[in-house]
Amino acid sequence: MDMEKGQKSSILLIYTGGTIGMKQDASDLTLKPFDFSQILDEVPELKKFALKVDSYTFDPLIDSSDVEPVFWQRLAELISGKYDDYDGFIVLHGTDTMAYSASALSFMLDGLTKPVIFTGSQLPIGVPRTDGKENIISAVEIASAKDADGHAMVPEVCIFFNSYLIRGNRAVKVSSEDFRAFRSPNLPALAEAGISIRYNTDLIRHPLDWYQSLGVNTKLDTRVSILKIHPGITPQVVRDILLGAETRAVIIETYGSGNAPSRQWFLDAVGEACRQGKVLVNVTQCLSGKVNMGIYANGKALQDAGVVCGYDSTTEAALGKLFYLLGKSSDNEWVKAMMTKNLKGEISK
Ligand code: ASP
Repeated sequence: MDMEKGQKSSILLIYTGGTIGMKQDASDLTLKPFDFSQILDEVPELKKFALKVDSYTFDPLIDSSDVEPVFWQRLAELISGKYDDYDGFIVLHGTDTMAYSASALSFMLDGLTKPVIFTGSQLPIGVPRTDGKENIISAVEIASAKDADGHAMVPEVCIFFNSYLIRGNRAVKVSSEDFRAFRSPNLPALAEAGISIRYNTDLIRHPLDWYQSLGVNTKLDTRVSILKIHPGITPQVVRDILLGAETRAVIIETYGSGNAPSRQWFLDAVGEACRQGKVLVNVTQCLSGKVNMGIYANGKALQDAGVVCGYDSTTEAALGKLFYLLGKSSDNEWVKAMMTKNLKGEISK
């Protein structure tokens, strides 16, 4: 529903763990999540906004390297359960798997009319030079922003980090040290926070119907593997990954515009996996650019064998999309067809 005049926007801050809320453990000096339920006390600046900000703390709090699909299911269910009560959602999440989680949620949540913004930090919020406060404050401002019609400015799953708002399923973690930890190599930022927040409105996706209810897909099929091609890769490794009995789909991370070795044992394994009906998706190892299997003979051989083009998808987005599509249908041919379609802005097509 549009906000009535004078009514405060309301935001739910969902704290899941990650560096932003970690403290050094005196016994072994490692960083561990601490109880962050008093988040408003940690960021008093939030009180200056005319907003209602509530928080929800996950139990247990996790380092995001412990994220599993069951965590995404809990998160999607939580957002869906609270959807009508808030104008926007902020997910405080560790940076290590934030791009995976934001990608997965972008497919699991259907018909979004409100923002779901992931953020976190490289330095814990309690330390003097933390980037966490700035990230939370700007994310909250963006999550509560409305356009002239009173609709959410950014009704998408996004990541806000170090001044940039990027589409969640376009994000890649590129640095373990810099404050600018994330990039969106194949799509410009959806917004940039300077002295004001500048929105790239032409790029922001909008729902067909602002009054539709949220659809939630929590059925995920995780029988997906990732095969990263490299010089010296052995027939045994390739066959184990492509032909594993449990595997329904494999993301092949290829060179450049989608090229892989032309050696016969490699093409035989790819051909055999395709004939078994497995979904093989070609994404590039390059940080930017896209797969085009028609350029080189080595890429064309994959296309001829039945490998599906992943275009400019990140590996993180391809993984979340496959979990979601495989969960929706047991028909691998349908999954292959859907992998070539732009479902949530994850590929440029
Ligand atoms: N290991 C941490 C995590 O992903 C790193 C971070 O938050 O930046 O939970």
